[in-house]
Amino acid sequence: MKELTSQVREVAKRLLANQKVDLILGWEKGAQPFRSNLAVIRSTEEADRLVFDEFCINNLSTYLLDYRDGHEKIGIFVKGCDSRGVVRLIEDNQFARERLYIIGIPCPGMKDPVAAAWADSGLAGKPDSEGLAAKCRQCVHPNPVVFDELLGSEQAPHLEGERFADVKRIEAMTSAERYEFFAEMFSRCIRCYACRQICVACNCRKCIFDETRPQWVGREVNLADNWMYHVVRAMHIAGRCVECGECERACPVGLPLMLLNRKLIKDVNELFGPYEASLKLEEGAKPPLSVYRPDDPDNFL
Ligand code: SF4
Ligand code: SF4
Ligand code: SF4
Repeated sequence: MKELTSQVREVAKRLLANQKVDLILGWEKGAQPFRSNLAVIRSTEEADRLVFDEFCINNLSTYLLDYRDGHEKIGIFVKGCDSRGVVRLIEDNQFARERLYIIGIPCPGMKDPVAAAWADSGLAGKPDSEGLAAKCRQCVHPNPVVFDELLGSEQAPHLEGERFADVKRIEAMTSAERYEFFAEMFSRCIRCYACRQICVACNCRKCIFDETRPQWVGREVNLADNWMYHVVRAMHIAGRCVECGECERACPVGLPLMLLNRKLIKDVNELFGPYEASLKLEEGAKPPLSVYRPDDPDNFL
């Protein structure tokens, strides 16, 4: 990927030198070799910090929210999942397309920095750090869906195994088994809200979970309030989740959050589709659960 790193730096320098953008969001190396973190680049000199390597796993689109109230024109490098996040923000009226210059990079799949850190630590129970990260092993859209220019070449989907296989295993359970499964899962949540903070689809200015008057969800960490949190969040992102897997990756207790997200992705497609969120930028497009059609399925009522 050395070639791509050179191209990324060249593009950034050109855009900044021509004043096409005020700043650029990309990736730079962190303190360890298995960390490639967000880089905010404002000058041609700084552009030499940029990289594109196998650890550029962060979805950069979320960071656009830090600039939503400004006027700066922003250049942003996007993989497949980042680009869907950008479409999400534009569709949700959180960011204007005109303020963005999007540089797409078809994604070869990323490695898991935590697995790499573990492998590097010498601790027992060394996980697989050579293969793709969990989120990338389920990726069907590695190519940017929106861009002003494109670097690199098109990639095939990285999906390993059958799509939605995990969801189908949960669907095959009895309702009592499913209850047990999710009760065990939600009881481990510490309500740190990292999954919400990292999520590009969680872009409301005022989140229901922060409201105190009225307080919709209790602050205590207990099964009932945890359950409420996860079900409400899942319904808020239903039809809007761009399947970037960042929520699951950010979770400090390793909850399999993508199970719930993918169940909703599958259901929204089957009930209201064919539909997958944010695969193309269309003026006025709305996710299925944001509009009402007289022929919407309602046999669950
Ligand atoms: S989810 Fe897809 S686009 Fe995103 S980092 Fe993984 S392989 Fe790349
Ligand atoms: S990141 Fe994990 S522990 Fe934190 S609120 Fe989300 S599910 Fe719970
Ligand atoms: S719910 Fe998770 S997978 Fe979906 S958009 Fe948010 S962070 Fe990405």
